[in-house]
Amino acid sequence: MVTVAVAALSGAFTWTLLEYIIHRWLGHDRRFRGNPFGIEHVRHHAEGNYFAPTAKKLVAAALAAAVVLVPAVLALGAATGVAYVAGLIGFYGLYEIVHRLEHVRPGFGPYGRWARRHHFTHHFVDARNNHGVTTPIWDFAFGTYRKPGHIVVPRKLAMPWLEDPTTGDVREGWAGTFALAPREKGRAKPSCSI
Ligand SMILES: [Zn+2]
Ligand SMILES: [Zn+2]
Repeated sequence: MVTVAVAALSGAFTWTLLEYIIHRWLGHDRRFRGNPFGIEHVRHHAEGNYFAPTAKKLVAAALAAAVVLVPAVLALGAATGVAYVAGLIGFYGLYEIVHRLEHVRPGFGPYGRWARRHHFTHHFVDARNNHGVTTPIWDFAFGTYRKPGHIVVPRKLAMPWLEDPTTGDVREGWAGTFALAPREKGRAKPSCSI
Protein backbone atom coordinates (compact mmCIF):
# COMPACT_ATOMS: atom_id res chain seq x y z
CA MET A 1 0.00 0.00 0.00
CA VAL A 2 2.81 2.39 0.94
CA THR A 3 4.60 1.47 -2.28
CA VAL A 4 1.48 2.23 -4.31
CA ALA A 5 1.05 5.62 -2.59
CA VAL A 6 4.72 6.47 -3.10
CA ALA A 7 4.41 5.48 -6.76
CA ALA A 8 1.38 7.75 -7.23
CA LEU A 9 3.20 10.65 -5.57
CA SER A 10 6.27 9.98 -7.73
CA GLY A 11 4.03 10.08 -10.79
CA ALA A 12 2.65 13.45 -9.70
CA PHE A 13 6.17 14.74 -9.05
CA THR A 14 7.26 13.52 -12.49
CA TRP A 15 4.44 15.56 -14.01
CA THR A 16 5.74 18.77 -12.37
CA LEU A 17 9.07 18.23 -14.15
CA LEU A 18 7.34 17.44 -17.45
CA GLU A 19 5.18 20.55 -17.03
CA TYR A 20 8.36 22.62 -16.81
CA ILE A 21 10.17 20.85 -19.66
CA ILE A 22 7.20 20.93 -22.06
CA HIS A 23 6.43 24.58 -21.34
CA ARG A 24 10.01 25.84 -21.42
CA TRP A 25 11.36 23.93 -24.37
CA LEU A 26 8.38 22.90 -26.50
CA GLY A 27 6.50 26.11 -25.74
CA HIS A 28 9.27 28.71 -25.86
CA ASP A 29 12.47 27.41 -27.41
CA ARG A 30 12.88 28.56 -31.00
CA ARG A 31 14.74 25.35 -31.87
CA PHE A 32 11.53 23.35 -31.37
CA ARG A 33 9.20 25.84 -33.00
CA GLY A 34 6.34 24.34 -34.95
CA ASN A 35 5.68 21.41 -32.62
CA PRO A 36 1.95 20.92 -31.85
CA PHE A 37 2.23 22.14 -28.24
CA GLY A 38 4.33 25.14 -29.28
CA ILE A 39 1.79 26.25 -31.90
CA GLU A 40 -1.05 26.16 -29.37
CA HIS A 41 1.13 27.83 -26.74
CA VAL A 42 2.08 30.75 -28.98
CA ARG A 43 -1.65 31.30 -29.51
CA HIS A 44 -2.26 31.07 -25.75
CA HIS A 45 0.22 33.91 -25.20
CA ALA A 46 -1.01 35.98 -28.13
CA GLU A 47 -4.72 35.73 -27.28
CA GLY A 48 -4.46 35.59 -23.49
CA ASN A 49 -7.39 33.41 -22.58
CA TYR A 50 -7.16 30.94 -25.46
CA PHE A 51 -6.72 27.28 -24.54
CA ALA A 52 -6.14 24.35 -26.87
CA PRO A 53 -9.30 22.24 -27.38
CA THR A 54 -9.97 19.77 -24.55
CA ALA A 55 -10.36 16.91 -27.05
CA LYS A 56 -6.76 17.43 -28.22
CA LYS A 57 -5.56 17.35 -24.62
CA LEU A 58 -7.48 14.17 -23.85
CA VAL A 59 -5.99 12.45 -26.89
CA ALA A 60 -2.46 13.59 -25.91
CA ALA A 61 -2.99 12.41 -22.31
CA ALA A 62 -4.36 9.03 -23.45
CA LEU A 63 -1.42 8.52 -25.83
CA ALA A 64 1.08 9.49 -23.13
CA ALA A 65 -0.59 7.12 -20.64
CA ALA A 66 -0.50 4.27 -23.18
CA VAL A 67 3.20 4.86 -23.90
CA VAL A 68 4.23 5.06 -20.23
CA LEU A 69 1.98 2.29 -18.85
CA VAL A 70 3.74 -0.78 -20.27
CA PRO A 71 7.29 0.16 -19.17
CA ALA A 72 5.95 1.32 -15.79
CA VAL A 73 4.14 -1.99 -15.17
CA LEU A 74 7.14 -4.01 -16.37
CA ALA A 75 9.53 -2.05 -14.15
CA LEU A 76 7.37 -1.62 -11.05
CA GLY A 77 4.75 -4.37 -11.15
CA ALA A 78 1.06 -4.05 -12.01
CA ALA A 79 -0.38 -2.12 -9.03
CA THR A 80 2.63 0.15 -8.52
CA GLY A 81 3.05 0.80 -12.23
CA VAL A 82 -0.61 1.70 -12.67
CA ALA A 83 -0.41 3.96 -9.58
CA TYR A 84 2.61 5.76 -11.00
CA VAL A 85 0.86 6.43 -14.31
CA ALA A 86 -2.35 7.44 -12.51
CA GLY A 87 -0.36 9.95 -10.40
CA LEU A 88 1.32 11.32 -13.51
CA ILE A 89 -1.84 11.71 -15.58
CA GLY A 90 -3.92 12.77 -12.57
CA PHE A 91 -1.56 15.61 -11.75
CA TYR A 92 -1.49 16.62 -15.40
CA GLY A 93 -5.29 16.99 -15.16
CA LEU A 94 -4.89 19.08 -12.02
CA TYR A 95 -2.38 21.30 -13.83
CA GLU A 96 -4.90 21.88 -16.64
CA ILE A 97 -7.54 22.92 -14.09
CA VAL A 98 -5.16 25.19 -12.16
CA HIS A 99 -3.95 26.87 -15.35
CA ARG A 100 -7.47 27.48 -16.62
CA LEU A 101 -8.67 28.81 -13.26
CA GLU A 102 -5.72 31.21 -13.10
CA HIS A 103 -6.88 32.73 -16.37
CA VAL A 104 -10.65 32.69 -16.19
CA ARG A 105 -11.82 32.65 -12.57
CA PRO A 106 -11.21 34.85 -9.58
CA GLY A 107 -10.06 33.53 -6.23
CA PHE A 108 -9.24 30.04 -5.04
CA GLY A 109 -7.32 31.10 -1.94
CA PRO A 110 -3.70 31.91 -1.09
CA TYR A 111 -2.38 29.24 -3.46
CA GLY A 112 -4.44 30.66 -6.31
CA ARG A 113 -3.17 34.11 -5.52
CA TRP A 114 0.43 32.92 -5.56
CA ALA A 115 -0.12 30.87 -8.73
CA ARG A 116 -1.60 33.85 -10.58
CA ARG A 117 1.30 36.15 -9.70
CA HIS A 118 3.83 33.50 -10.71
CA HIS A 119 2.11 32.63 -13.99
CA PHE A 120 1.22 36.14 -15.10
CA THR A 121 4.78 37.27 -14.44
CA HIS A 122 5.60 34.69 -17.13
CA HIS A 123 2.85 36.00 -19.45
CA PHE A 124 3.32 39.74 -19.06
CA VAL A 125 6.73 40.48 -17.53
CA ASP A 126 9.23 37.96 -18.90
CA ALA A 127 8.32 34.75 -20.76
CA ARG A 128 11.85 33.43 -20.19
CA ASN A 129 11.03 32.92 -16.51
CA ASN A 130 8.46 31.13 -14.34
CA HIS A 131 7.69 28.17 -16.58
CA GLY A 132 6.24 26.15 -13.72
CA VAL A 133 2.47 26.58 -13.41
CA THR A 134 1.57 24.43 -10.40
CA THR A 135 4.89 24.79 -8.55
CA PRO A 136 8.02 27.00 -8.74
CA ILE A 137 10.43 24.19 -7.77
CA TRP A 138 11.79 23.55 -11.26
CA ASP A 139 12.16 27.27 -11.90
CA PHE A 140 14.39 27.34 -8.81
CA ALA A 141 16.23 24.21 -9.95
CA PHE A 142 16.88 25.53 -13.49
CA GLY A 143 17.51 29.16 -12.47
CA THR A 144 14.43 30.63 -14.16
CA TYR A 145 12.57 31.79 -11.07
CA ARG A 146 11.57 35.44 -11.10
CA LYS A 147 9.99 36.91 -7.98
CA PRO A 148 6.66 38.44 -8.97
CA GLY A 149 6.54 42.22 -8.71
CA HIS A 150 4.15 44.66 -10.31
CA ILE A 151 2.47 43.06 -13.34
CA VAL A 152 1.15 45.33 -16.09
CA VAL A 153 -1.42 43.58 -18.27
CA PRO A 154 -2.31 44.83 -21.79
CA ARG A 155 -6.05 45.54 -21.86
CA LYS A 156 -6.82 43.29 -24.79
CA LEU A 157 -5.25 40.37 -22.91
CA ALA A 158 -6.81 41.16 -19.53
CA MET A 159 -8.14 38.20 -17.59
CA PRO A 160 -11.92 38.41 -17.01
CA TRP A 161 -11.48 38.56 -13.22
CA LEU A 162 -8.98 41.42 -13.36
CA GLU A 163 -10.88 44.27 -14.94
CA ASP A 164 -13.81 45.89 -13.14
CA PRO A 165 -16.34 46.56 -15.94
CA THR A 166 -17.88 49.53 -14.11
CA THR A 167 -14.64 51.45 -13.57
CA GLY A 168 -12.54 49.91 -16.37
CA ASP A 169 -9.78 49.56 -13.82
CA VAL A 170 -8.26 46.69 -11.86
CA ARG A 171 -10.70 45.13 -9.38
CA GLU A 172 -10.27 45.85 -5.71
CA GLY A 173 -7.87 43.45 -4.06
CA TRP A 174 -5.59 43.15 -7.08
CA ALA A 175 -4.58 46.80 -7.45
CA GLY A 176 -1.30 46.40 -5.55
CA THR A 177 -0.26 43.47 -7.72
CA PHE A 178 -1.69 44.05 -11.19
CA ALA A 179 -2.22 47.12 -13.34
CA LEU A 180 -3.87 47.51 -16.73
CA ALA A 181 -1.81 49.24 -19.40
CA PRO A 182 -3.12 52.77 -20.05
CA ARG A 183 -5.39 53.00 -23.10
CA GLU A 184 -3.51 56.02 -24.50
CA LYS A 185 -0.46 53.91 -25.15
CA GLY A 186 -2.20 52.43 -28.15
CA ARG A 187 -2.30 48.81 -29.08
CA ALA A 188 -0.64 46.71 -26.45
CA LYS A 189 1.29 43.65 -27.45
CA PRO A 190 2.09 40.61 -25.34
CA SER A 191 5.44 40.97 -23.66
CA CYS A 192 6.70 37.54 -24.40
CA SER A 193 9.89 36.56 -26.18
CA ILE A 194 8.62 33.57 -28.06
ZN1 LIG B 1 -1.26 30.82 -19.21
ZN1 LIG C 1 4.46 30.31 -21.88
